[in-house]
Amino acid sequence: MILLPVLNNPYNYNMEKLLCGVDLGGTKLSVGLINTEGKIQDKFTVYDHVGKDEIKIVDQITGLIRQLISKNGLAESDLKGIGMGFPGHVRYKDGYTLTTSNLKGFKNFPLRHSVAKHFKIPVLLDNDANAQAFCEFKFGTGMGYESLIFLTISTGIGAGIILDKKLYRGITGTAGEFGHTIVNPESDLVCTCGNKGCLMACACGLALPHLFKKKIAEGMRTTLPLDADFDYSKIDGKMIKQGFDSGDPVSASIMKECADYIGIIVYNIFQIFNPPLIILGGGLCCWGCSYLEHVRRKFKELARDMIFDRIDILESSAGGDAGLIGAAALLLE
Ligand SMILES: [Zn+2]
Repeated sequence: MILLPVLNNPYNYNMEKLLCGVDLGGTKLSVGLINTEGKIQDKFTVYDHVGKDEIKIVDQITGLIRQLISKNGLAESDLKGIGMGFPGHVRYKDGYTLTTSNLKGFKNFPLRHSVAKHFKIPVLLDNDANAQAFCEFKFGTGMGYESLIFLTISTGIGAGIILDKKLYRGITGTAGEFGHTIVNPESDLVCTCGNKGCLMACACGLALPHLFKKKIAEGMRTTLPLDADFDYSKIDGKMIKQGFDSGDPVSASIMKECADYIGIIVYNIFQIFNPPLIILGGGLCCWGCSYLEHVRRKFKELARDMIFDRIDILESSAGGDAGLIGAAALLLE
């Protein structure tokens, strides 16, 4: 007898179990059912978790998972497990959250256990950038590579390290905090960690208001239509992109400066890991081709004749649900 593959089976009922992903962010909380091809079957996204304490957020997460299971006519045993991504430091071994600047509380909080005690299936907890990196590796730009480094550059900077098909987490689980590596000790830009000259202080959304103010104070003129009492803390990636596109010299100078720093970190990553691929993602990548080209140019200028094998520096392709899909995909690691 010839067994034909089951087609048109959106839930893979008779094939592989579905994965449940949870992406707990500073503005949104998403819970989804994801198949082993990385496709979302169904998801809920809420925003009213912001400001709640840890216990209430755990209740909300478990409630949303149960709703999703029953809405899709499933039982808990139809799921392979639950993978969660958290916006901060996580101790991977015991599933404690250590710190976060995006949510209230969660200092030394047993998040994995607090969710796991409501279910019989396995529950995993990791940092959200690690989850995104794993999504790129399984289903995105990193497909087909054995190792890669993923950098996400938006308001802050996160990263994930994949070596030989596994996430490298370090002894605690906090490896890959490239945002806190110091790229300019002479800088007077202070990072959220308190140090001066961290990559995060110099080259992401958090840095933009300070960079803009600095350029104006140095005498550069902007062509952006700003009022005399303009609040510089409102400067964000979109404004810089608009400015760049309309020929504003301040915006162009900021974009170049940020790209230089990202080029430096890409070079440092190259020297430390010698990876075949570095993926750049996050909101500031909307700055587009000239930004990415500038990053590549800076990297090549520093690496010169030390590149012996091909290294790809590519844009992320996993999209806005990378954190959710990646968290679920951790169950496949
Ligand atoms: Zn720092």
